[in-house]
Order: sequence, then structure tokens, then C-alpha cells
Amino acid sequence: MTPPLLRIALPVPLWQAFDYLAPTEAPMPADPVGCRVVVPFGRGSRVGVVVAVDEDGAAGSDRDGLRQAEAWLDRASLYGEELWRTLHWAQAYWVHPLGEVMATALPVALRDARPAESIAARAYARAAPSPDGPAPRAGTLKARVLEALSTPLPESDLKDRVPGCARVLRDLVDAGLVDEVPAFALPERPAIEGPPLNPAQREAVDAIIAAGGRFQPFVLDGVTGSGKTEVYLAAIRHAIAAGHQVLVLVPEIGLTPQAIRRYRERLGIPIAVLHSGLADGERAAAWLAAGRGEARVVLGTRSAILTPLPRAGLIVVDEEHDASYKQQDGFRYSARDLAVVRARALGVPVVLGTATPSLETLANVEAGRYQRLRLPTRAGPARRPVIEVVDLNRRRLVEGLAPAVRDAIAEHARRGEQVLVFRNRRGFAPRLACHDCGWHAECTRCDTAMTLHRGEGLLRCHHCGAARRLPRECPSCRSAELVAEGYGTERLEEVLTALLPEVPVLRVDRDTTRTKSAFDALFERLEAGGPAVLVGTQMLAKGHDLPNLTLAVVVDADAGLASPDFRGAERLAQLLVQVSGRAGRGVKPGRVLIQTRQPEHPLLKTLLAEGYGGFAREALAIRQGHALPPFAAWAMVRAEAREDPAIEAFLGRARDTLREAPGITVQGPLPAQLARRAGYRRAHLIVEAGDRRALNAALGSWAPVAHAWPEARRVRWSLDVDPLEVV
Ligand code: ADP
Ligand code: ZN
Ligand code: ZN
Repeated sequence: MTPPLLRIALPVPLWQAFDYLAPTEAPMPADPVGCRVVVPFGRGSRVGVVVAVDEDGAAGSDRDGLRQAEAWLDRASLYGEELWRTLHWAQAYWVHPLGEVMATALPVALRDARPAESIAARAYARAAPSPDGPAPRAGTLKARVLEALSTPLPESDLKDRVPGCARVLRDLVDAGLVDEVPAFALPERPAIEGPPLNPAQREAVDAIIAAGGRFQPFVLDGVTGSGKTEVYLAAIRHAIAAGHQVLVLVPEIGLTPQAIRRYRERLGIPIAVLHSGLADGERAAAWLAAGRGEARVVLGTRSAILTPLPRAGLIVVDEEHDASYKQQDGFRYSARDLAVVRARALGVPVVLGTATPSLETLANVEAGRYQRLRLPTRAGPARRPVIEVVDLNRRRLVEGLAPAVRDAIAEHARRGEQVLVFRNRRGFAPRLACHDCGWHAECTRCDTAMTLHRGEGLLRCHHCGAARRLPRECPSCRSAELVAEGYGTERLEEVLTALLPEVPVLRVDRDTTRTKSAFDALFERLEAGGPAVLVGTQMLAKGHDLPNLTLAVVVDADAGLASPDFRGAERLAQLLVQVSGRAGRGVKPGRVLIQTRQPEHPLLKTLLAEGYGGFAREALAIRQGHALPPFAAWAMVRAEAREDPAIEAFLGRARDTLREAPGITVQGPLPAQLARRAGYRRAHLIVEAGDRRALNAALGSWAPVAHAWPEARRVRWSLDVDPLEVV
């Protein structure tokens, strides 16, 4: 008897599935679809996923020359029925090879030939009763582990709290002082009660609960500090009390220890936290525990949307407008959009929370597809901050800041309060120029100026990472008069330190806070509340609750106003509102100062007069008038190569073929805004359709064919459906 034939999706950028004969070393799983198998591929072997089985060869396939798969890794699909179906949908929507989509969904440890049984999430608890014999001496690593285990902890948390604890854990377990238990079997702890909900919060929670077990998307449209998290928590508690699982997505920068602690304390059950700092094994363990229905609350960043949830009752997406929900390479899915698709497939409510809804989400509200729940005021004692525009045209700047702005910063800091100074540009100055001949430093590999990093004595390219020593004289005319033009965070830090020598000035950008733990430690310290001036990039704009922060300064709103991207205005408005939302979250009132040379700009005027809601209404009307997304479906075909002709050949052919598809228009090839990066020329096409299905159909039949073109081999190309950045 010949073994059945398996159709297998492999994690390779190819559009076909591959046929193999089933392994004979072990019996076939009862339902092999979705199971992982090891197969020979090229000269090595790969882990693939079975997408179809042909038991008797009725399909008339030719078995001669087919290779045999080596081994089964699973006895049942790890994906579960709903995720499996949704991934097929996602593959067709974002137009990406199925094998890569299936592999992306798996945690890294399971993309290898590892059986799922070998992966377990552990937790530790103090043994009770503790054995006789001497207890570890106070202050030792062992004593600190025991102290941390006054409540049982998952392994990853214990490692966070007691760095280096792995060295003594084994000993403690062997000595009978500590018990090792499966992570999601930890006993429940009493949940800490939160503040009583205010009427708007109560109404929102009731609406979510009233959706029962049915699919309904909600937009929780609540100003910053309005208590959205309290609404999530109440809805989550309701869902887990009914025995359901809940998935909570947060932006990359929002998954702070404080946020994790809040969910843990308030829910009182073990939470599976999925973030990039986890070891592969821990991540896989949490994913598997969710797939078995054991982990009842999954909290994570973008890729957590790819977690199986057999007992789902609710999905929450916090800060739904956040760009980190869109994957920017490989399988370019949007976790926010996928959350809605999964909620529909699972038949559960989904809550998209934000103070600044994306225009896509607002269009869905207006079309009646999403139900809006409003939290119009801040919760607790905090009031809305006062926002003022500072017109730079009429004032002489002192070191990048208007005198009134300098005074305000000094005043707030000297009162013992915290000040946030936002500038979306790291480094000392965006340009180094020659005073005599006009030369300025440019990257040799990109079409862009190099940023001066004075502390390091370097010029750095922020696009390709190239760095070179700071020149002493102009390479063009030998003049020694080289001037730093403009202000980056490093320079502002210097300026503010000189202005306020008695106050700590802390810079927060990728240069000062390379690791997430450094970033978290900084905020831990600021939460304590002492006076400080924070200078930083958009890392500062998100989610932090610093009650003593009373002044926020936006150093330069003009860069955002000038953006060539049609989403530029939306992004700037969101940023301004989010930065403003950092000020005045405690009892003291907040103030926001926005520096600009365009105080009459309609965006700023509407935003100040009518808030984000007014801005968004206008912006949405403009999008509709110009048939821009979300009133049209867009995709981008991007290509890069050393030489222009290769790009032109590929994009030219792509344009000509895509144009033939019904309902499709194509713009381009257009040079990218950064037309050369790291030595590669870059260009793109914009593919548009009034009808989303027309777009998916056209791209779905085009991409596999284009993949085989000889022109495709001479460029690096990618397809991006619903692109966030279109320049
Ligand atoms: P958001 O997520 O909307 O920015 P949070 O849920 O973080 O807001 O709440 C902001 C602050 O207000 C937190 O300190 C929170 O404890 C507090 N808060 C939330 N709801 C209430 C309430 N009903 N009564 C009193 N304080 C509240
Ligand atoms: Zn010169
Ligand atoms: Zn460069």
C-alpha cells in the first residue's frame, strides 16, 4: 500500500504548496491538516504544515519521484480550527505565501522540529510547609528568590525580579524549599478592586457585556486618562468569570511592567504575557497554553493576535491607531484589522480603544459597522490640559526654544513638577553645514543629510546606520566654520541642562534607552514624582501615567505639517493629542505648548478649536473627496535595486499587467521619498481599487505569476496591502 500524499506549506517565499508522501515511521494523525511535519527540502530539511491530504491518489497526482516526509511533529493541529481558517483568509487578504503565513503564526520555538510536549511554562512557589533545616542567609540570592516568591510567580517574572535567579533555582527545588508547577495552574489570588466606575465607564462596560457572546466591534473613544483600561478590566473580568479566554493587544511601547502588574493584580489569575523580551521557549509555552485553553488572559504586542483561542470570549485592542500593529516586513498584516476578523470568526465582541481613532476606524463607525462608546472626560480628579500655540514667526528663538517656552519650562520644573519636551529627532543636530561655502554632510549611500551626534563625535545616517568621524574642517573649502543646524534631542538636553542645572534633565530616545529594561527603569523612577525635565522622541508620547507631569512642549510641529504622505496630518494630530495627554494627569492642571511657524494652519486651528473629533471629521471628508483610503483600497508594490533600469523593468511590467485587471488603477513607478537607501535605488507603484475584493483578486492572481518573472529576480520587491506609509 502506498502512503497517502500530503500537500505541505513550507516557510519559503514561494507561492506553491509541495507534495510529499506521508511518513511511514508513525501512523498518520486522525486529522493531519494543520499538523507539522519534517520534510526533506533541497539538501536539508524543513518544518512544514499539512494543508491537504490525498488518501488514495484519486486526484490522479503523479507520485513518481515524490519524496517522503520524514516525521510527524504533531498528533493534532496546534492552530485550532478558527485560527487555521482565519490565516487562510489573511493570506488572501494581505496576499502573502501561505507557508510563510503559517510559520509566522507559530512561535519561533515551534518553527523548529520541536515537539510541543517538550515545551512547558513553569512557575515557582514557596514550598509549604517549608522543610526543616537552616533557611538561606538574608541578602543572599537564595533568600531573595524566596522573598520574591511570597506569591507564586511564573518563571519569566521571577527572572525579572531576581536577575540571575536561574543559578540557584535548581538547588532550591532540590532542597524542597521551592515547588515547580505548571505556569497556568497557579492558584488564583484575590483580585484587587479598582475605583468604582463612573457613569460613562459603566455604560461602556454594560454595552460590551450586552453584546453577549456575539460578534460586535466597539470603538472605545475616550480622551487620554478617561479610564479606558478600567473599562477593559471590567469587561475582561466578566468574560473570565464566564469561563472564557480574553486576548488583549497593546502597542510595543505600552507593555510596561506597570501595565502588566496592573492586569495581574486586578484580575487575580495567571496572565500569559507575550513580548519580545521572552525566551523562545517561554513564548511558545504561553502560546501552547492558550491553544489548550489554559491561559485565560493573553496580553501581548502585535504578534499576540496570532494566538489560538479555543475558548475566546473577548478581544481588546488598546491604542488601536498605533502604527506598531502593522507588520512592516514579511507578512505585512495589521493586528488591529486581524483582531476584528478573528472576533467575527470566533463570534465574540472586540473593543478598539483609543483617544485618537484612526480614520479607518472612524469610517467604520460612520458606516454603522462599529459601535462607538464614548468616555468624554478624564476619570478621577484630572482635567483637560490647556493647549497654546506658540508662533515662532514673531519671536527670536533662544537655542531652539521661544523665550516664553523656556520660561514656562523653568517655572514648572522649579515648582517641583515634571516637564516633557517632545522633539521627534534624535542626535545633536539634523545637519552639519559649512558657514563659508554651503557644503553639508550627506550620507554617501542614501539621499539624505547625516545627523550630527556630538557626544559620540560622529555623523550618523539614520536610514542606513552608516557612521563617520566628525570632520574638523569643511571637506569642500577647508573652512573651520562648521555649524550644527537645528536641534535634536541631544542638543535640547544640553540646552535644558544649562538652563536648569538644579533639575535632572533626562533624555529618552533610542540612543539613551537602548533596552526596554532601561526605558522601564526610567519610568519607574519618574513615577515616584520628583522634579524632572524629560526630553525625547515619540517614545515619550505613549501611555505613561506620570501624575506630576504638568507641562508638555512640542518643539517643532512643522515637520509633521509638511509631510508628503496623505496620512501625515492624521499622524501629527494623533501625536499632538497623545503628547498633550501626558500633561496634567494628576490633581495639578496640565499645560501644553506647541511651537510652530504655521499657527494659522487649518489642521492646528481645527484641532485646537474642536479637538481630535473635529479634526477627524474634516480629515475624513477630505479623504472621501479625493477617494483616498479608507474610501479606496490601496496596495503598494515596492522595489529596490542597485540600478534604476532593473527597477523600471520590474515595476513597468508590474504596472502594465496590473492595469489589465478589472477595477484597478495603477500610479507609478514613483521614486520613494528616500530615493536611495544603503546604496539601493527605491521606487514603487500604488495600486488602487474602489472595491476591496477587486484589489485582492487582482493581486492574488498577479503575485504568484510576477514571482516567476526574470525581472523579479533582479530586484528586491514586496507587496504591501493597506500600507501605512505611502512615500
Ligand atoms: P486611559 O487608559 O483612558 O488613559 P486609565 O484607565 O489608565 O486611562 O486611567 C487613568 C487614571 O484614572 C488612572 O490613574 C486610573 O486609576 C484612574 N481612574 C480610572 N477610572 C477611574 C474612576 N472611575 N475613578 C477614579 N479614578 C479612575
Ligand atoms: Zn566649506
Ligand atoms: Zn545612509
